Amino acid sequence: MYCMKEIKVDDSVIQEAQNLVDNVYAPLKNFTNEKDFWSIAKNMRLSDGQVWAMPILLDLSEKEREENSNESFIISNESGDVFIIDNPQYFEVDRNLAAKLLYGTNDLEHPGVYRFMNLKKYFVSGELKKISNREYKVKKINYKTPDQIKEIFKNNGWRNIVSFQTRNPPHRSHEFIQKKSLAEVDGLLVHPIVGEKKKGDIKDEFILGAYAILIDNYYDSKSVELATFHTYMRYAGPRDAVFHALVRRNFGCTHMIIGRDHAGVGNYYGSYDAQNQFDKFSEEELGIKILKHNNVAYCKKCFDMVPDGDCVHSNDDKVHLSGTELRSKLEKNEDIPNTFMRTEVVNYLRENNDIFVK
Ligand SMILES: [Zn+2]
Repeated sequence: MYCMKEIKVDDSVIQEAQNLVDNVYAPLKNFTNEKDFWSIAKNMRLSDGQVWAMPILLDLSEKEREENSNESFIISNESGDVFIIDNPQYFEVDRNLAAKLLYGTNDLEHPGVYRFMNLKKYFVSGELKKISNREYKVKKINYKTPDQIKEIFKNNGWRNIVSFQTRNPPHRSHEFIQKKSLAEVDGLLVHPIVGEKKKGDIKDEFILGAYAILIDNYYDSKSVELATFHTYMRYAGPRDAVFHALVRRNFGCTHMIIGRDHAGVGNYYGSYDAQNQFDKFSEEELGIKILKHNNVAYCKKCFDMVPDGDCVHSNDDKVHLSGTELRSKLEKNEDIPNTFMRTEVVNYLRENNDIFVK
């Protein structure tokens, strides 16, 4: 049928190809080329000036390139998803420099940097085409394409929609921020990232399950949609914030919630870096309005959820658990206050085994 060389790639690469085809990464249609790579890294724009924050990469080894003799080739995965790369253009980048520009660090302890540094030798651009009409085979939980999501918004009669990005089960603070944002618009899209994550994060299916329970019990279901964005976590903090916002614009959202330390990891980024990053761009060129929120916590003296700085009480009066503390309390069956996480959500997480990424 096709006499091209076929290269087996990871599901995560096929997933990126499918995202390109689905217009999740519009205006990108192809894996990032060398010129755009450096333009994105240095200016957070494509070489034609449009805002874009993270390169979308296809990586191949030296051996795979040699076997290809620089001709068009096919990428596929074990499930049989198949894409063609026509007119491939190969390039190498100075990984240390690129990591510093993209992630603000080249420290291998940073999970996004570690992943980037360990990609195969060459990056490849070219014209991407999907050649099978077969359904995408990689298990995609609760995924809808941008076109499908926009259709749902239209049918719901929503004109203004706010999106919430997450990789965690819902805390009370998330619920508070979502509901506060929802008051300004017609609908809320809860849109967790599903894909490769770091050790200790909660597995995707349980984040979705936890949200389903929260929405069932505490939300007006007529104003919320729950769907997923399938990609690997980059943990690129401020840059990820822009990337996440542009992707949600492509899913038809008009507003995006950006909290403090969005998509951060460890202490690599300042609390306000992600929010401040948006000052570099006009709302018009982003195509989505950013709703910036402070951290929120339950205040034991106010008996209420309170954004940072909105009451006079100290940090000691606030209920907060770190990700590590939450994990430890879940595993040891210790009390988790319902002022931090709804009891129904806690019970759901406890009822399930093996909920953490190893
Ligand atoms: Zn207070």
